[in-house]
Amino acid sequence: MKKRILITGGAGFLGSQLCEKLLNEDHEVICLDNYFTGQKENITHLLKNPYFEIIRHDVTMPFFIEVDEIYNLACPASPIHYQYNPIKTIKTSVMGAINMLGLAKRIKAKILQASTSEVYGDPDVHPQTESYWGNVNPIGERSCYDEGKRCAESLFVNYHKQNDVRIKIIRIFNTYGPKMHPNDGRVVSNFIMQALQNKDITIFGKGTQTRSFCYVDDLLDGLVRMMGTDDRVIGPINMGNPFEFSMNELANLVIKLTDSKSKLVFLPLPSDDPLQRKPDISKAKEILNWEPKIELEEGLKETIKYFKKFVI
Ligand code: NAD
Ligand code: UDP
Repeated sequence: MKKRILITGGAGFLGSQLCEKLLNEDHEVICLDNYFTGQKENITHLLKNPYFEIIRHDVTMPFFIEVDEIYNLACPASPIHYQYNPIKTIKTSVMGAINMLGLAKRIKAKILQASTSEVYGDPDVHPQTESYWGNVNPIGERSCYDEGKRCAESLFVNYHKQNDVRIKIIRIFNTYGPKMHPNDGRVVSNFIMQALQNKDITIFGKGTQTRSFCYVDDLLDGLVRMMGTDDRVIGPINMGNPFEFSMNELANLVIKLTDSKSKLVFLPLPSDDPLQRKPDISKAKEILNWEPKIELEEGLKETIKYFKKFVI
């Protein structure tokens, strides 16, 4: 059945690919974005589809529309962008959640929140399970993002309890792939762009900190599966690739795959940078029958192909 679906943050990395996926699945898609980190170029090719619409809007302001489902993705995800205007980042997560949950309540739509592994902060439980409450510095550099997302989770759960809103919460772990902004500042895009230009690869700290990288196609498959579950499934559910890599390993793999002459340079580690991160995805496996299929090397090759067009 054709559904009408609103995607906030629809011009960003994940949002634009989700717009495309849902249009291909024959739904009607409305993309809402204020273009802070998103780009029109990510979505203009979809405008030839009469079931696609773009709306310039900021989620901190109320918004009214009739839809069946809402994917709430609006929020900068790269540390340099979410720390650029921290108050705005908090407003986007908190007021954005209130506005979208209010909308979902009025129109009885299902609503999915793109939450994050950052709710676990610098975790002292490894791998991270959904039952772990996290270790977040509430006044640190990352707090505008981490606490904003934690507050959004609380809003989601309370709108569900108090007003029966049909919510879904997914905690997304580091996800990468084509359509990431080349100057986004996140580690995968930085390393690939540096390697393709034979520039120094900027490792923050000693490079022994770890992350687990999920390819975008796997992640989007999981988000759509979650939205398709019955109303009793509300999450939170972790979604990410459980294979863990240090930043040194990632840098060396990117150099190998790009056949680059780049050298590693070591720069200071930003404050509160989590030392380790790896999802326990037992819940996603059990409830959604989901696990990632694309290994890092394969996903990086696709991503490198995409980034080559930005390098002269
Ligand atoms: P992105 O920065 O590429 O996309 C975010 C989009 O939201 C952009 O198009 C931006 O312009 C838009 N936006 C920001 N503030 C807005 C506002 N106030 N009103 C309307 N639109 C606004 O990031 P992404 O990687 O595509 O992330 C999408 C969502 O997934 C975010 O909520 C992010 O927190 C979450 N997430 C992503 C990752 C990841 O690794 N990619 C990990 C965890 C969580
Ligand atoms: N990082 C790095 N060099 C870069 C960008 C990031 O070493 O040019 C490190 C960063 O310090 C962090 C990891 O890579 O430990 C992942 O950073 P990213 O910003 O992609 O995501 P997050 O820290 O939010 O997981």
